[in-house]
Amino acid sequence: MGSDLCEISVTRLKGVGTSLASKLARLGIESVQDLLFHLPFRYEDRTRVTPIGAARPGQAYVLEGEITACNLAYGRRRSLLATLEDGTGRIGLRFYHFSKAMEHNLRRAGSIRCYGEVRAGATGPEIYHPEYASLKQAATMEASLTPVYPATEGISQSRYRSLVEQALALLDTGGLVELDLGDSPYTRMPIAEALRYLHRPPPDADTQALLASQHPAQRRLAFEELLAHQASLRLVREEMKKLHAPPLKPPGSRYTELGASLGFSLTKAQEKVASEVAKDMMTASPTLRLVQGDVGSGKTVIAALAAIHAFENGLQTALMAPTELLAEQHFINLSSWLLPLGIRTARLTSRVTGKKREETLAQIGTGNAELVIGTHALFQPEVAFQSLGLIIIDEQHRFGVHQRLALREKGVAGSDCPHQLVMTATPIPRTLSMSIYADMDVSVIDELPPGRRPVTTSVLPDERRDQVVARVAHACAAGAQVYWVCTLIDESEALECQAAEATAEELSKLLPEVKVGLIHGRMNATDKAQAMSDFKHAKLDLLVATTVIEVGVDVPNATLMVIENSERLGLAQLHQLRGRIGRGAKESHCLLLYKKPLGELSRERLAVMRQSNDGFFIAERDLEIRGPGEILGSKQSGSLEFKIANLMRDQDMLPEVRQVAAKLLQAGAGQAEQLVSRWIKESEKLFSG
Ligand code: ADP
Ligand code: MG
Repeated sequence: MGSDLCEISVTRLKGVGTSLASKLARLGIESVQDLLFHLPFRYEDRTRVTPIGAARPGQAYVLEGEITACNLAYGRRRSLLATLEDGTGRIGLRFYHFSKAMEHNLRRAGSIRCYGEVRAGATGPEIYHPEYASLKQAATMEASLTPVYPATEGISQSRYRSLVEQALALLDTGGLVELDLGDSPYTRMPIAEALRYLHRPPPDADTQALLASQHPAQRRLAFEELLAHQASLRLVREEMKKLHAPPLKPPGSRYTELGASLGFSLTKAQEKVASEVAKDMMTASPTLRLVQGDVGSGKTVIAALAAIHAFENGLQTALMAPTELLAEQHFINLSSWLLPLGIRTARLTSRVTGKKREETLAQIGTGNAELVIGTHALFQPEVAFQSLGLIIIDEQHRFGVHQRLALREKGVAGSDCPHQLVMTATPIPRTLSMSIYADMDVSVIDELPPGRRPVTTSVLPDERRDQVVARVAHACAAGAQVYWVCTLIDESEALECQAAEATAEELSKLLPEVKVGLIHGRMNATDKAQAMSDFKHAKLDLLVATTVIEVGVDVPNATLMVIENSERLGLAQLHQLRGRIGRGAKESHCLLLYKKPLGELSRERLAVMRQSNDGFFIAERDLEIRGPGEILGSKQSGSLEFKIANLMRDQDMLPEVRQVAAKLLQAGAGQAEQLVSRWIKESEKLFSG
């Protein structure tokens, strides 16, 4: 047995000096084990020569043939274009960067071998910047697939491969712990064998399977990686559950009073979820519950009830919203519900400044506000609660695991940890949510309040804008209210706000009888709140907005929504936006405008919006069309960046992953921690909070 590979520093390898070591460290590679777990993310097939006539665009090939022409080409950019022929066909080799010497040599090169990806170019099939060598000087063909490593900034692929070579030699001496992962079909192959196979696929390897990421060695490692993620979340959960939280008494009279004063009765689903939450909070370990419910399912009531419950036990509640606008909206709604019950609500965002801020901080510190609503600003160090017992995070998809962990330090005196409730409208398919939120219990509000009419959605090219404007005029004349959403994804927020301003101006000119308002992210909080409140109280007919109104905003009389550039938004986001209408008893319409030409994928995606109002269905389809990373948004990807696994592709493994993770943790934290640190570099952060 050699010593443990996770304890051998990369600096022990030949050729690794301080400069290379620091480049490796930037990739999170410090030990020989790290090196081995930095896996190839694709393979190149340089084992055989393909006849030029058989090469297809979109794939990379080794080609051999004769250079029959070599000329300068003058298009938008000057380039050097050589023609390679082999009797089965011809292909262009194009270079945008080239020297005189290169031009000269290539012209006289004769027979060459080259490698690169074929594209449909200006002259037919072309390869841009192929690697090439004269046939006489070309090395022998590779015996097996060539691994390509992800982001090795400043380290060449061949350098990296030679480091891996040394690491594999050490692996042969047996320095890698084989964890006991039970007898699962995915784990039969020893880990060392799987690693060796993927770094150095043997000549007879199943090329198709490897290129499709379906090889048993890849499945073996993908399984272990998914398991590591699952285990890390469960370890976080165990750590949290060890902390002490204030156990609440059963809900009292005020809790019941809210129900009586709402003017509607709770849905069965709301009742079930509210009681799950209440029960959680009556135990002495922190509540860690995710409340999932489609837009409009009524999550705010659940938050209100939980806050009342905390209040009845002398504890404060902090409610964190992702935007100022939403914090504002919650403040208005919740204070109107809670003030009559004697519960005081304060608001704290980065826009609350100066004297007002001092006052608010004092209220929070002395316990003179029982519910504090705000944005991230709530969790700045100078915010000290007198007795924080409950943290509610609305619209969780914007917060990551790390941020959530940081909150526990805000709890009431001593080692106490507040209860935590997370509310999300991101309807993640159940198979995925059980994997992504393994650190929480999940409640689902699977029912909408009665009397809702589904929104009818149409998809239109923006050439028909005139008709759309006429439709808006008609709706406003009939007493309805309208949202007009301007979006410019990928461009700056400033541009998006400008676009909204321009659109508002244009629409006021076109529709003189319509009262047009404007709301966007660059307006100050007071102006935003004013615009929102004017719209809510029907002083405005038409509200031109940016995507700031994406979440939470609630105006039941708004029954028409126009969304510009809808083809550029994600389905989850479109669903969120559309959720702003269809909140009253009247029928609502959503018009999705797009710019031509519409690609196949976009067509398919917009069709999903037309087809369904069900967030879960839309999420499933979105997942199929795009893959899970994007659904959850970049903010979350920290916990979802896999080296080799892919939640979508490897879904079939997830039930087994959950089972094995449970067993692993039962056997004690030792093995699980070893597994996690092998795969997740961030794990130290996770455990230290
Ligand atoms: P979301 O889950 O999207 O946050 P909200 O909490 O904003 O939904 O609720 C949407 C609207 O439905 C609000 O106007 C709310 O007052 C109303 N609502 C909530 N629960 C019910 C119910 N059980 N019956 C009728 N209306 C309800
Ligand atoms: Mg909400």
